[in-house]
Order: sequence, then C-alpha cells, then structure tokens
Amino acid sequence: MAVTEFELISRFFSRLGAKREDVILGVGDDCALLRVPAGMELAVSVDTLVEGVHFAPHTDPESLGHKALAVNLSDLAAMGAVPAWATLALTLPDSDSVWLEAFSRGFSALAKRYRVQLIGGDTTRGPLNITVQVHGLLAPGSALRRDGARPGDLIGVTGALGDAGLALRPLQDSYHLADACNELQRRLEWPAPRVEAGQALVGIARSAIDISDGLLADLGHVAEASGVGARLQLARLPLSPGVARYVKETGDWSLPLAAGDDYELCFSVAPERRSEAEARVLRAGCELTWIGVIDEEPGVRCFTADGDLLNPLARGYEHFRPA
Ligand code: ADP
Ligand code: MG
Repeated sequence: MAVTEFELISRFFSRLGAKREDVILGVGDDCALLRVPAGMELAVSVDTLVEGVHFAPHTDPESLGHKALAVNLSDLAAMGAVPAWATLALTLPDSDSVWLEAFSRGFSALAKRYRVQLIGGDTTRGPLNITVQVHGLLAPGSALRRDGARPGDLIGVTGALGDAGLALRPLQDSYHLADACNELQRRLEWPAPRVEAGQALVGIARSAIDISDGLLADLGHVAEASGVGARLQLARLPLSPGVARYVKETGDWSLPLAAGDDYELCFSVAPERRSEAEARVLRAGCELTWIGVIDEEPGVRCFTADGDLLNPLARGYEHFRPA
C-alpha cells in the first residue's frame, strides 16, 4: 500500500530507535538539536548502500534496515566510539508500506540495542538508495585511529573472515556446507557491528579499522597511515568450516583476504598488552585471533605455513581487475 511522504516519515521514522535524553529536538523540524556532553569528542561517519551495487534487488527489507545501520556502527566501533544518534536519507522507487514497515523494524531493533536514536533524514523518490549517518561519543584523544600502528605490534582480528564473501559465491560452487548455508547468509545480510569490542580496545589498541573491503585492503590502509608494514600468517586466519574448506580445496585465499563485507575489527596492540587485549575483547563477547605483526617494511605480506610468501596472483585481486 502506498503512503504519502509525510505519512511515511511520521509512521515509520519519527520515533525510531532509542529515546535519548540528549536529543532536544528529533525528527520534525528543519534540523535536529542535540546536547553534546561537555568535553566529549563527536565521531561522525556516513555510508551508502545502493541497490545492485551493495545488495541484490528484492533483498529482505528488514535485513537492509539492519545492515544500513550496522555498517555505520561498524565504523564507530573501529574508532572505539559509543553510538548515540543517526540520520537516514532514503531514496525509494515507491512508497510501499509493507517494505517500509520491515525496513524500519530491522533498523529500529539494532538502533535500540545500541541506544541510537534516529534524529532526522531525507526522503526522495528514485532508484533504491540508503544513506545512514551515525554520530558517536568519545573521551578526548581516546579514538582508535588508523595511524597509530608501530613495528612490533601484534595484529588481531575479531570473529572470522570470508563468510560474507562465501555467501555471495554461486551455490554450484558447493562450498556452502548445507547446514552452514543459512549461517553464511546471516553473516552477509545481518552483520554484527563489533561495537563492544571496539570500546573494549580503547586505551589498549594502538590502531584499528573495520574490515569492510577485505583484510588486505583495510590493513593496507592502517599500514599506510601509520608508515609501517605488516606480516600475516595465513595459517592463523580465523575461518569458519565452509571458508576453511574452500581455501583448502582451491588454494585460493581471496575470501578471507579480499572479499570484504565481514565487518570484523582489525587492530594492533603492543606485545606487552596482549593478554589484557584478549581478556577485554573476550569480555566484550568476541573471539580474538592474533594473525601477524606490524613491521617496518611497507605493504602487507602474507606467509604460508611453510614460511613462503604468498604469490600475489593468488590473492584474489583478479575479481577487481578491469576485464
Ligand atoms: P526539509 O524540507 O526541511 O528537508 P523534510 O520534509 O525533508 O524537511 O523532512 C521533515 C522532517 O522529517 C525533518 O525533520 C527530517 O529530518 C525528517 N525526515 C525526513 N525523511 C526522514 C527519514 N527517512 N528518516 C528520518 N527522518 C526523516
Ligand atoms: Mg528534506
């Protein structure tokens, strides 16, 4: 059923997410008004999901609502920020109330979980496009940045790598173990932003980033920003059974190294703080795996269990090369 623009905003987006005391004025005026706590730093990030680029047509709208917020919360997590507010710019081909109901349900459930209030946005007509901006809070100078890695740091990741990439592979590849199939799809469509783990690493990690484009690319950003390099031990990468089997049978490491959409955190920690980091991340409900070390030689280098340097041609870059 179609609804008008103003009905749509008031029905689906005017009371979405948590209700926060620091929101002086939310949806409904020309601007939202927010009370930023005295002395705190504001962390801001925006991400867009485009139909046909970031998700397939006819994707479950509830999962889209979740993912649009989740990928943004993942950026706040990577800085160690505490989420607070969000805005939503929606471009819709039509105003389908069934779609909107499901979308707002997915968005709202995740927003409530992290005490995020939707405070405004914009609604336009056109090809489906979802832009979310998030705002989070940080104690001054406490943000986990990309430019703090130092030679000797241990490199850690949360969770497992490559599941979302495997979910996108055609079914006939048959690396989707039947019972793991739903789990892979869930990892792709319902990513869990590592918000608690990011906050747990504040004051401990020297650098952090969330893995949205793939480990090599994202760790590469950290290395470049920090003026260092990284050595990874392939055998240590945390892999689910399906991804482990895929790698074993094909010898292709592109899923855990380059597929992206994992939304795990990758961070570096001085070696003497290793067990403290482990305890904190575990308490935050995440698994932590040490996968390598920061060194001085520029670039990210991957070593096999035999100590050989992985041939860059096997890294999966072929997916991104122009035809
Ligand atoms: P303006 O013309 O001033 O941009 P709009 O008519 O676009 O105002 O929006 C009216 C109010 O509804 C504003 O407070 C705006 O922030 C909010 N709003 C519009 N679209 C959305 C949306 N998709 N989600 C949340 N708030 C929205
Ligand atoms: Mg507007």
